[in-house]
Order: sequence, then structure tokens, then C-alpha cells
Amino acid sequence: MCGIVGYIGHREAYPIVLKGLQRLEYRGYDSAGIALYDGKDLKMSKTKGKVADLKKRLENEISTNGTVGIGHTRWATHGEPNDVNSHPHYSNSGDLVIIHNGIIENYDALKKELKKRGYTFKSETDTEVLVNLIEDVIKKEDVKLGKAVQIALNQTVGAYAIAVFNKKKPDEIVVARLGSPLAIGVGEDEFFVASDASPFIEFTNNAIYLEDGEMAVVRRHKEVKIRKIKDDSLVDPYMHELQLNLEQIEKGGYEHFMLKEIHEQPNAISDTYRGRMLVEKGLIRMAGVDDNMERIANAKRFIIVACGTSWHAGLVAEYIFEDIARIPVEVEYASEFRYRNPVISENDVVIAISQSGETADTMAAIKLAKEKGAFAFGVCNVVGSSISRETNAGAYTHAGPEIGVASTKAFTTQITVLTLMALKLGKFKGTISNSDFQFYLQEMERIPGKIKKALESDELIQKIAFTYKDAPNCLYLGRGYNFPVALEGALKLKEISYIHAEGYPAAEMKHGPIALIDEQMPVVVIATKKGHYEKVVSNIQEIKSRKGKIIAVVTEGDEEVRELADHVIEVPETIESLTPLLTTIPLQLLSYHIAVLLGKNVDQPRNLAKSVTVE
Ligand code: GLU
Repeated sequence: MCGIVGYIGHREAYPIVLKGLQRLEYRGYDSAGIALYDGKDLKMSKTKGKVADLKKRLENEISTNGTVGIGHTRWATHGEPNDVNSHPHYSNSGDLVIIHNGIIENYDALKKELKKRGYTFKSETDTEVLVNLIEDVIKKEDVKLGKAVQIALNQTVGAYAIAVFNKKKPDEIVVARLGSPLAIGVGEDEFFVASDASPFIEFTNNAIYLEDGEMAVVRRHKEVKIRKIKDDSLVDPYMHELQLNLEQIEKGGYEHFMLKEIHEQPNAISDTYRGRMLVEKGLIRMAGVDDNMERIANAKRFIIVACGTSWHAGLVAEYIFEDIARIPVEVEYASEFRYRNPVISENDVVIAISQSGETADTMAAIKLAKEKGAFAFGVCNVVGSSISRETNAGAYTHAGPEIGVASTKAFTTQITVLTLMALKLGKFKGTISNSDFQFYLQEMERIPGKIKKALESDELIQKIAFTYKDAPNCLYLGRGYNFPVALEGALKLKEISYIHAEGYPAAEMKHGPIALIDEQMPVVVIATKKGHYEKVVSNIQEIKSRKGKIIAVVTEGDEEVRELADHVIEVPETIESLTPLLTTIPLQLLSYHIAVLLGKNVDQPRNLAKSVTVE
């Protein structure tokens, strides 16, 4: 995980690369560096810390002119985050410079070999090994940079998106990818390379996304040539037209991206519905499902593979698919699933959920499932991402760019897409009546308005956050559809406030966690009217008897829980299966406000990165 960016063209490279790194910082932010070519020589500056730290340092350290540059924002895998391990990395001669996102797994063996041949290493990274391997190939085989990169990569095992520059051939940047994303922005006589398209959207709408196993030489005044790394065969580049705009990736008056994204949820969900949910006609259109209806609806089983918040969305979907479409569902952590010897058959449909569409483990799980004959369906947010291309069919969430590392609108739009899919399948299979189907559509149409209403509790939640900001632990409880919401609420709190939190099915509390409850322990309980209400009320009684502090998320107008709980946050009433879309909102706000009150970096929490492209 990390962000890479590069520029070659007629403009000054530095501001483009710097701004690009700021936009990619969500991908990793423990160190950053830039290398620029000023027409004569390479200059480099890098540091532990954020891109803002790099900016302060770089402008004192080197001159910033030049029309070629590359930059990197790191999420360390090999070697601690420090100045030396930061990217870019020079080769021993100082001619080559590289930036890399990913892991070279056989770097140790390669390093030993290179050491025997006299190479020395300053850093502990796998990346510095790769740049010297490329240099070694140039020396030994007397080939150009592109060829050398290709030969070197064919000796590596692992994952990468790289950009390599040779100061002796300053009119080109060589890029390659396997497992980590890489986009090439194609402008008028200028090129951009980056982990995603955000660094270049104000300059061009045209982008080529490299596929796994492809490389490209990006050369001034020339067309981009793409080749397969394995056999050197030429690939026809496919030019994507980008839909992104600048406003979407800026904060728009909010203090943090996370808060902006929480408030964007009503619109994000409407965007997810757009063109799909035709309430008047009583129809749901989803091309990815329509085109493969028999295959999907007749599946013996759905296996949902995902990580983190997406896994929680998968758990909600398990309830919905089983409830509405009567299809058995298993929800798997992609990272466990892929390393087991899972029993998968041709009658299975494997659904991969990933905001970025680049999650390495989810990608590997999909590949494994396809090898075993299953049909792969992707639910991704980033258009053109690797998982969306690898799957047989899919549905985008259309949430717009999510930049805050803690996922919010991606979660609710994933649930929305999966609900649409379940309803569509239920209708096709006859497992939901026409009147229920129609009722669902009407209620779903009201959800964005109801989320707006739920957001109105912001001030109240801020006060609750103030009361509990210093708690060392927190429990989250929910049942049925709201059990995964409890998990997600706990994850949000852990991620951005670093308070230890556990999500539990409310009924399981008695089998262990109840031992933790005393007057210091805040317990967030989701107790909406629809959804085992009486049982949850009993659980609340049990917590109260042990003097736990109860923060309850309830249905508007609830009086019973109000009597028992220390704090009550209301959400509008809806169908049970749609409650997660509402109950999640106060939990997002609670963790947000606690983190802000504790002075934490909400958008870039420590040790995390947005897009987990390493395994
Ligand atoms: N493996 C490289 C390192 O640790 C790259 C990590 C990344 O993707 O940021 O420096």
C-alpha cells in the first residue's frame, strides 16, 4: 500500500507530483519522497512523516525545477519508516531511481546475489534490491531501461506497481504492475503515472489502467507502448474516460474527509439507486445481474469474500440474501479463505466486496474461486479497479471517492447494492411477493431522507462523545441485521480513536463479555423496534444491573429503552433489513467525535492505509 505518482511533459513536475502525493496520501503516510530531473541531474528529497513534512524539507533542500519527476508516499512493509527507507531509491550508480508500491517477496535471495556481485544497500527495503537488479541487468546485458525492467521483473516474486527513471535516458519513465494498481494519464504531449487517477484529473480525462503483468514505456512525444512482462507481446491500450471531478476529492467545507463522507451518504445512496431502482415501474435494473440471471439465481450457494468494513457489509448481506432470495450464504475473510483449501464448485457464486477494488487478499480469493469454476461477482466503488476487471460481472457502488481511511459511505452503499441484488433475485425466484417487493422499493426510496434525519443527532452525539472520550474500552451490541453494525461501530472506534472496542451479538454477551461490565464500561446497544426488540431490551436490563453505561440507538419515539439507558439516540423507523443503513450513522458520528475530541488524525489514523494492496 502506498501512493506513487510521476510526471513527464512540458510543465513543472514538482507541483504536480506534490499535489498528487497529497491526494494519494490516504494510501499510506509514514514517509514521503520526490525525485526530480532538472535537465542535467537528478535531485531527491525524502523524509519520514507526511507529505506536508516533505514539502517543508524539500523546498529547503533542493531546487524544484524540472519537467520530469516521481514521488512516493509510503506504508512500510520492509524496514521501519525512516528517512533512509523512504522512497525513491537510487541504484548504486545513482543513474536509476525507483518508486514502488508492493512487496518483492524474494528480495532477500536477490539481495544476497547482488551483494556477491559488489552491490551495497543503504536501506532495508525490498525496493532498493529491485532497482539494483535492474541496474545489474543493464550492465550485464547492455539493454535499454524498458528491457532491463522486464528482465528483472521476470526474476522477482511478489507484487508491484513501479515507476523507474534513468537520468541517462531522461525522456522516459518505465512503469509496470502486478497486483498493485497503476494508471497512466494521457494528456497533450504529457503523461502522468499514479496509483489512481486523482493526481491528474485536472489535467486530463484520459487514462490507461495497466493490467496485472503489463508494463509501459512512457516517452515524451510518443505514444504509450504497453507490453506483457512475461513474453514481451504488445497490448492494445484501452483508453478510459474518467468521470471524476476535482470537487469530489476535496473537503468541501468540512473539517475532515470522514465527516464530509458521513454527510454524503444520503446522496451517495441515491447515486447507488440511480438508473437501477425504478419504483414506478416496480423494477430493479442491474446489468451485471440481468446479464447473468440464470447463473446467479440458480447458485447453490453464495460465498462472500471481503476484508475489514467490506466484510461487515458482507455479513449484513448474508441476512438479506438468505431472507429475501433464499440463497445460502457464507461470508469469509478473503485472507483466510484464500489460504485454506476451500470447497468451491461450479454452482457457487463468489461475491467480492472491496471499496478500492484493489484489496490484494480479496483479489486472490476471486482468482482462486474462478480457477475452481465459480462465477465471480464484484461489488466495488472504484470504477475500472482490478477486482472489477477480474470478476465475471459486478455492480459498482457509485459512492464517489472515499478518502477518509475509516470507511463510511462505502459501507452503506455496499449494503445498498447488495440489497438491490437480493431483491432482484428474490423477485426472479419468487421468494418475495410482488407487494413486498414494491413495499421495499418505496421504503428504499425514503432511506436517503431518513439518513438525513439520523444525521440531525450530530450535536447530541458530540455531547455523548465528550462524556466517554476517555473510556479505555467500549462494547457494541446488536442482534440480527444489527449484529454486523455493532462490529462495524466497534471497528470505527478502534480505527480512529485507538480506544479498544468489541462488537458482539447481544445474546453472546452472557458467554463472556458480560464479565467486563462495570460502571466504567460504556456499552453501545442497537435496539431498534424492528429486530428482536424485546430480547435486546432484556440485554439492556442485564447491562444495567451490572452498572454499565448504556448508549442506545433506538427507533424514533421509543420510550421503553429511554427509561433504562443513560443516553438515547433516535433513528427513523424502517423495515428491519434496512435498519443497518440508519443505525450505522450515529455510530460513525460517535467515533468521529471521540477521535476529534482526543485530537487524533481522523482521516489518516496511525498504522492504517486505505487501500490494502499488500497481503
Ligand atoms: N515494500 C516497499 C517498502 O516497504 C513498498 C511499500 C509500499 O507499498 O509502500 O518500502
